[in-house]
Amino acid sequence: ENTPAKRWGDYTDDTPDPSPHPDKPTHAFKSDVKVVEANLSEKMNDPNHVLYSAVDSFEDFNIKPDILKGILVQFKKPSRIQALTLPILLNSDTNLIAQSQSGTGKTLCFAICMLAAVNEEDPNPQALVLLPSLELAVQVASVIENLARFTQIKVFSILAGERLSRNDIKGQILVGTPGKVKELILRRTIDPKLIKLFVLDEADQMLDEGGIRDSTLAIREKLNEDTRVLLFSATFKDPDDSNDTEGEEKDKHVLEFASQVVPPPVKTILLKRDKLTLDEMKQFSVYCQDDSMKTRLIMEIFDTLEVGQSMIFVNKKDTAKELAEVLMEQNFTVAVIRGDLAPGERKQAMEEFRKGNSRVMVSTNAAARGIDIASVTHVINYDMPMRVFETKEYDYATYLHRIGRTARFGKPGYAINLYSHPGDKRMIEAFRDFYKTTITEVSADQIEQSI
Ligand code: ADP
Repeated sequence: ENTPAKRWGDYTDDTPDPSPHPDKPTHAFKSDVKVVEANLSEKMNDPNHVLYSAVDSFEDFNIKPDILKGILVQFKKPSRIQALTLPILLNSDTNLIAQSQSGTGKTLCFAICMLAAVNEEDPNPQALVLLPSLELAVQVASVIENLARFTQIKVFSILAGERLSRNDIKGQILVGTPGKVKELILRRTIDPKLIKLFVLDEADQMLDEGGIRDSTLAIREKLNEDTRVLLFSATFKDPDDSNDTEGEEKDKHVLEFASQVVPPPVKTILLKRDKLTLDEMKQFSVYCQDDSMKTRLIMEIFDTLEVGQSMIFVNKKDTAKELAEVLMEQNFTVAVIRGDLAPGERKQAMEEFRKGNSRVMVSTNAAARGIDIASVTHVINYDMPMRVFETKEYDYATYLHRIGRTARFGKPGYAINLYSHPGDKRMIEAFRDFYKTTITEVSADQIEQSI
C-alpha cells in the first residue's frame, strides 16, 4: 500500500480511471472528456490561494490509522478549510458552523469527523448527515465509503422510496435527505437517541424554509440535546437582510437562525461575501434576443469552445424538458434532472453524466448545489436564478451554487449568463455587485474570441 498519494486534481485525461473503490467508480469520466490539469500543488502552497494551508499532510492531524490510510490513498495535502476545521473536529467536542467556497473540500471535513466519531464495534447508527437532494446524498455516501474502506465502518444511504425496517439499516453512518429520515425516526426504524453526531451539509438551505426546514428541525428535536452538530455551506447569508453588511452584523444573523439547531459551545468560521467567488472562475454575460437565440448560442458554444462537460440551469421543469429535447435532436448527449422525475430516473441521469456518457446536463435548481464532477468546465444560466418568480426576487445564494459546479478545487471554469430582458441584466449586475466580482459582457457573435 505504499503507492504515492494521488489527488483528484492530479488526474488528466490520459490517467486511468482512478476509481478509488473498485465497485463504485464515483468520479469516473470517459477518456474523451478532458479534465484540465489544475497545477494543484502550486496553488495549495500559495498563501494567497483559497486552497492554501500551512499543513503539509493529513498525517499531521490526530486521525486513527485505518481512517488516515483511506485518506492518504486519495489525498495528500489538506485544503484551507480542512486545516482550519479538522483540529477542532478531531480534538474537541465543539459544535461547528463552517463556511468555505464551492469546491474547496468541505465534504472531507465532516466525513473524516463522522468516521472518527463512531465506534466500529457497535453496529448501530451513530452519526447522521442530511443533504438537500438525493443526488448529493448518493455522492456524499460514496465519498465517506471511499474513506472508510480500510475500516469496518459501514455507511448506509437512506434513499427515497425504499421501505425499511430496523434490521435493514446496517451502518454506523447514515446519509439521507430530511423527509425520508424524519419518517424513519418517527416510525422508530432509526433510534435518534443513538446519534452522537449530526451534520447538515448545505446547511443554509436545510434551514431556509418549507418542508425541508420543517423536517430538519423535527429530526433535530428528536436527537439528544447535547448531540454534536456541524453545519457546512458555501453560503450562510440571507440576502433579504439589507442591514447585513459584514462583520458583526453578519455573524449575528447567521448565529440567530443556526442557534435553533446548534447548542453552545460553537465555533463559527465565516467568509465575507467578496471572498466567495473563485479566481479560477471566469464569469460572462451574453445578450440573446429570445429563448431560441439562447438555444442556438448554447449549440455554438459547444461547437466552438473547448467544453468538457457542461451544466445548463433553467428555472422551470418544462423548460428543462424542452431544451433537452432540442439539444438531443442535434445529437448532443443530454442528461436531465428535474424535481418531478422519479428518484430512479434522477439517479440514472446523474450516473450517466458522472460517467461522461452525457456531455450536457440540463437541470433545474435540483442539481444546483454540491454536485462534484471534475470535468464540468462550463455552467450556463439559461434562466437567471430567482427566489420568487412572481416578484422576480434575486436568488443570490443559488447563483453562487450553480456557478460553483465548475472551477472546483483549483480547476479553471466558465460561467455564462444568458439574458434577454433588462430585468435579467439588472439581476446579473446585482450578483456582480453583491459578490464584488467581475462578470464580463460579451456579444453573441464574438463568443469564440471572447471566452
Ligand atoms: P465542497 O463541499 O467544498 O464544495 P468537495 O468536498 O465536493 O467541495 O470537494 C471538491 C473536490 O475536491 C472533490 O472532488 C474532492 O475529492 C477534492 N478534494 C477535497 N479535498 C482535497 C484535498 N485535500 N486534496 C485534493 N483534492 C481534494
